[in-house]
Amino acid sequence: DRPLAGKVALVTGGSRGIGAAIARRLAAGGAAVALTYHSRQDLADQVVKEIEQAGGQGWAVRADVADAEQVWASVAGAVERFGRLDILVNNAGTGVLGPFEGISLDDVDRVLRTNVRGPFLAAQAAAAHLTEGGRIISIGSCMAERVAFPGGTLYATSKAALTGLTRTLARELGPRGITANLVHPGPIDTDMNPADGESAEFQAGLTSLGAFGQGTDVAETVAHLAGDGGRYITGASIAVDGGFAV
Ligand code: NDP
Repeated sequence: DRPLAGKVALVTGGSRGIGAAIARRLAAGGAAVALTYHSRQDLADQVVKEIEQAGGQGWAVRADVADAEQVWASVAGAVERFGRLDILVNNAGTGVLGPFEGISLDDVDRVLRTNVRGPFLAAQAAAAHLTEGGRIISIGSCMAERVAFPGGTLYATSKAALTGLTRTLARELGPRGITANLVHPGPIDTDMNPADGESAEFQAGLTSLGAFGQGTDVAETVAHLAGDGGRYITGASIAVDGGFAV
């Protein structure tokens, strides 16, 4: 019942929200989990503590995914700490919503660095360590698949880029027995998108199920892809969005 025993995972942005749920879930499956955070060391340490209290192995490292040196250092750090790397989860991301004409050059650079360049560089650094059975799983967004309201130009552009990364990684790394997949969450109750927020009712109404999901809903699919059940799934974009994009 610990299908990921002996595996080592790196989850970016594992201190809160969806990433924390993924870190806990992979650890519950038996993986040793390195998780990165940006500013909330207290919360990252808390996730590690919970993992350890449940009998698992966790380790937190500060790494701004928008900073190349820090991305490389976090991959190297995970390998140094746990001796290998089997699973990379590109979860850390940032959202900017607003009218197209109001998006600044700084917004463009920051969001593309965080949501696209970071996952690209993390995948590249991880691929040097992954072996047969390795996994690269990125967290996209349902907004890459269906544009249900205006204001998402930059965010949707950044998340749609992960489709290109995922498909090409599937082709490039497939011969080495490594898979690459993309998970598109719908509205998930986190600090970024609280289920009691201003637009929550509107967002819930755009899903088929009429409700927000939880980080654990995304984590279950990531765990499936990470495990042996995911061995023949690669290059795929999988929606965990309550039927938002249908
Ligand atoms: P949260 O804002 O709740 O949590 C973000 C996490 O990422 C935190 O652990 C944060 O660290 C970390 N993080 C943020 N910026 C950086 C950075 N520059 N470098 C490293 N870590 C960073 O977000 P969610 O859990 O809601 O979102 C996780 C992912 O899921 C994102 O990619 C998001 O775009 C995507 N997503 C979320 C949806 C939702 O409805 N919630 C819907 C669709 C996609 P710290 O705690 O230190 O700040």
